[in-house]
Amino acid sequence: MDYQKILENVLIKMTGFQELGNPASYIPELRKVDPFKFGVHLITKKNKNFGLGDSEEKFSIQSISKVLSLVMAYQLQDEDLWKRVGVEPSGTPFNSLIQLEYDQGIPRNPFINAGALVICDILVEHLKNPKDEFLNFVRKLSGNSELEYCARISESEKSVGYRNAALINLMKDLGNIHNDIDTVLDFYFNLCSIEMTCRELARTFLFLASYGLNPITKEKILSSSKAKRVNAIMQLCGFYDEAGEFSFKVGLPGKSGVGGGIVAILPNQYSIVVWSPGLNKKGNSSKGMKFLELFTSETESSIF
Ligand code: GLU
Repeated sequence: MDYQKILENVLIKMTGFQELGNPASYIPELRKVDPFKFGVHLITKKNKNFGLGDSEEKFSIQSISKVLSLVMAYQLQDEDLWKRVGVEPSGTPFNSLIQLEYDQGIPRNPFINAGALVICDILVEHLKNPKDEFLNFVRKLSGNSELEYCARISESEKSVGYRNAALINLMKDLGNIHNDIDTVLDFYFNLCSIEMTCRELARTFLFLASYGLNPITKEKILSSSKAKRVNAIMQLCGFYDEAGEFSFKVGLPGKSGVGGGIVAILPNQYSIVVWSPGLNKKGNSSKGMKFLELFTSETESSIF
C-alpha cells in the first residue's frame, strides 16, 4: 500500500473539517501549545516509515504513557496485576473520585488516573530506580536513547495536581497503594511528562502491532497473549468516555492523551500516531480522531 499517498489524500479530505477544539487548559504548560500543530507518522511491521506535517516535533504524550507503564507492570506481575486494577470501561471521567469509593479503591482499568496510579505503585514496589528504569524502557522502544522526562511539564502538573492527590489518598486509605504517596505521585507526573515525536511514539508502540515482539530489535516485550490483552484494554478504555465512538468510527485499538496525541495499531500491520493539540469535549484530539476515521475508511483497515 502506498501509505504516503494515502496520508496525503486523507489530509486533503480534512480541509473542510473545522472542529479544531482547544488544547488542554488544566495543566498550565499544555495551554501554551500552538493549536494548529498537526503531525502524523505511520510505521509498518517491516519498519517502513511515512509521515507528514509536524511529525518530527515533540509533544507531551501524557496518558499515552499509561500503556507503557502497564506493559512494564504486566511483565513484572503477570496475572496477579488484575487483583489490584480491573479491565472494564469506567463510564466516568478519567479523574473521577466517585466510582473509586464504590469500588473499594480498585480502579476500573489501568488507563483512568486511579488505575495508572496503582500501576505506578506496583512499579515503585518492584523496581530499585523506577524513574530511570521506566525511562530506559521507553528509550529502548522508541529507538531514541536521549529521551528525557520534561521537568517543566511535570512541575506544572504537580502545581495543580489536587485531584490526583485526592485519588491516591483515597486509595491509600482503602489499602490499594502500598508505597509512599509522594513517591508514587512524583513518578506518575514524570511519566506523563515525556515528550516524543509522532515518529518516535509510533515506533514505541510497534510491538503491540506485532504480537508483543519488537520487529526492529527482535526483542520479545510481551507474550502474544499479554499483548492481545493490552490491546483489548486499549480498545475498551483507551479514549476516555469516547472509546465506543472511536471503535465505531476508527475500529482500531489505541490510546489518547490530553497533549493531543493518539496512537493506534492494526495488528500485524502498522502503528500510527496523530498529533493535533485541540481536544474535543471528551478530551480526545478532535482532528486526530477525524484523521484516523478517514484513514481507516480509505485503507479499509480495521480489526472488525
Ligand atoms: N497527566 C494527566 C493527568 O493526570 C494525564 C491526563 C491524560 O492525558 O489523560 O491529568
